[in-house]
Amino acid sequence: MGAFGERILDCLWPRRCFQCGKPLATNGYYLHLCDHCAGMLNFIGINACPRCGRPYSDDGRGRDDCPNCRSRSFSFRSGRALFECNGLGRAIIHELKYRNGHFLLPDIGRLSRNFFGELRGKILVPVPLHWWRRWQRGYNQSELICQVLAREHDCRVIHLLRRHKFNRRQTDLCRQDRYTNVAKSFSLCRRVLEKSNINRSEEIYIVDDVLTTGSTIDACAKVLEAAGFLSIHARAVARAF
Ligand SMILES: [Zn+2]
Ligand SMILES: [Zn+2]
Repeated sequence: MGAFGERILDCLWPRRCFQCGKPLATNGYYLHLCDHCAGMLNFIGINACPRCGRPYSDDGRGRDDCPNCRSRSFSFRSGRALFECNGLGRAIIHELKYRNGHFLLPDIGRLSRNFFGELRGKILVPVPLHWWRRWQRGYNQSELICQVLAREHDCRVIHLLRRHKFNRRQTDLCRQDRYTNVAKSFSLCRRVLEKSNINRSEEIYIVDDVLTTGSTIDACAKVLEAAGFLSIHARAVARAF
């Protein structure tokens, strides 16, 4: 639908804020969020662990010794998420993941504008779903996030990974179990790699909806590392604990 058609629809059925239900101005910055609610998101700026994206506490605790990274090594160099997975942040992720919330994607793109500048021109690799789960859900939210980030930041999306193991849902597991559950779940799509003509020294950003302990993206990063990639990073929309 063209912009004119959208404007007519907006007049007939004004869009409302996804969070508070307030009618939105047709010329607002976001399509489904009011500025007030968008401002309530807990954005994670630079005051976070550069390796795993965990925000430092207000008194600076964790700055030198992040509890999540302590005695762990990741195969990705840096990890960042846009905002914390609580309140509206959690509601956005939930809508996207379980309730077909595709309508929120353009706003996720807009929200990322001031925070994910480092993605410009880079390669994005979505965390894949097992084919069975993808079929159940009808889509892979990480792929959709990659597409919207690619539009905003002029990136290439390359599906370098596949998930061959059907895992239990990570959300029910503790940190150690998450690690064992997801290890060796992913493999390289060699044909995609050959066709894509990427140089192994290019920066690769693995993208997921939520970053929690980092186990899932790390399992993906290990596959790319084994394939010879030298600079692998992790990015997510939300950071959970
Ligand atoms: Zn609102
Ligand atoms: Zn950390």
